[in-house]
Amino acid sequence: MSGYRWVLSVLAVGSLLLLGPGLSAQQSRPDDEIIKLVDDVYLYRHQFHQAIFITTPKGVIVTDPISSDAATWLKAKIKTLTDQPVRYVIYSHHHDDHITGGSVFADQATFISHAAAREKILHAADPKTPVPDLTFTDRMSIDLGGKHVELIYTGKNHSDNSLVVLLPQDKLLFAVDFIPVETVAYRTMQSDYPDDWIESLKRIEQLDFETLVPGHGKIGKKEHVRQFRGYLEDLRSAVEEQVRKGASMEEAKKAVHLSKYEQWQRYADWFPENVEGMYRYLSQQRKDNR
Ligand SMILES: [Zn+2]
Repeated sequence: MSGYRWVLSVLAVGSLLLLGPGLSAQQSRPDDEIIKLVDDVYLYRHQFHQAIFITTPKGVIVTDPISSDAATWLKAKIKTLTDQPVRYVIYSHHHDDHITGGSVFADQATFISHAAAREKILHAADPKTPVPDLTFTDRMSIDLGGKHVELIYTGKNHSDNSLVVLLPQDKLLFAVDFIPVETVAYRTMQSDYPDDWIESLKRIEQLDFETLVPGHGKIGKKEHVRQFRGYLEDLRSAVEEQVRKGASMEEAKKAVHLSKYEQWQRYADWFPENVEGMYRYLSQQRKDNR
């Protein structure tokens, strides 16, 4: 063995230790990764999507399965961490890009969503997608193997059925598609409820947590919730000024800039679309109020 190869194998052992036992050391799928957040709470990422799972001595709690492929991989990975079965799968909201793949866990798990998601999930893109067994409207908790998990609905935002997963012991919150961290909203915001969205963020700000795990992008802190609410409020007032002046959508898209957020991710490509989404919402509201 050459000295060069020896150096390489020492490096390999080093990274194995860093990754910890049973994790992505022998990873052959760059699109997927598992990151330990705290003791028994893990983030799993598949391409651009991510979610969390929690291991307990009485079973595992999984959130969005993401896709059949991702969920199959995840199920195998969970087996390397614990002998316990997946007892619960929690859907963050009804969108297919987050809930597909749940059938992988259907033999053992109870599926949970917000009540308003259930009807929509009946018509999911993949007909194999398990329909929620349990739903709630305001708040629900799960106690499993000493772990306390709160599911909370804070009103309409990105959808009309987005729940958040709060882990009080870990002061961690998982929230999907409506609190991006230092990133503008997705494209035209894909929301019929920007005003409710702002109110929903105020309710999130009242919750007790420190770490914010979104469904896409970087992990943040509670402070990022207030920052993103500030962004939506600033966007709303800048676009409202254009609507009041009678500007067309194209004029508004040219006129509105929020330099405070220029450094945020996707500002260059998605910000004009955020303006478009807000413009459509506010001009519709104006028509309705006439
Ligand atoms: Zn969504």
